[in-house]
Amino acid sequence: MANHNPRSAKINRSYTVEEVADLYDIHRNTVRNWLKQGLSHCGEGHPKLILGSELRRYLEERKRKNKHPCKVGQIYCMRCRKSVPPKSNEAVLHVPDTGGATLQGICPNCSCKLFRKVSMPKLADWRGELSLTNMKALERLD
Ligand SMILES: [Zn+2]
Repeated sequence: MANHNPRSAKINRSYTVEEVADLYDIHRNTVRNWLKQGLSHCGEGHPKLILGSELRRYLEERKRKNKHPCKVGQIYCMRCRKSVPPKSNEAVLHVPDTGGATLQGICPNCSCKLFRKVSMPKLADWRGELSLTNMKALERLD
């Protein structure tokens, strides 16, 4: 989960969807999802305006709800509801041409597939002891 600092939002101003997207360097659709998931905006007009104070409240609440911090080298298992290092510390890296890499591993407790979206620049900090297989590199071998 990306870290959207609630304090980046200035409480005395209001933001359009585009401005929130710029503020947190996220896609506008992400902000639209937040609106569907409980972020309030003022009035019915266009563009939709979001109060900085409301944005801050929403993000702080969201942060509390999403507290399943993954430690270095761990992936969150939906079934076990906790972060675990994948089986044998092995994960497969999928990098589609469309961008946005995904790590896939196996849960050592329930054998479920684990998925984690990763940003390539942060991967080095995050992978810890994991041994990664890059699917793309493999595909080129045969
Ligand atoms: Zn599991």
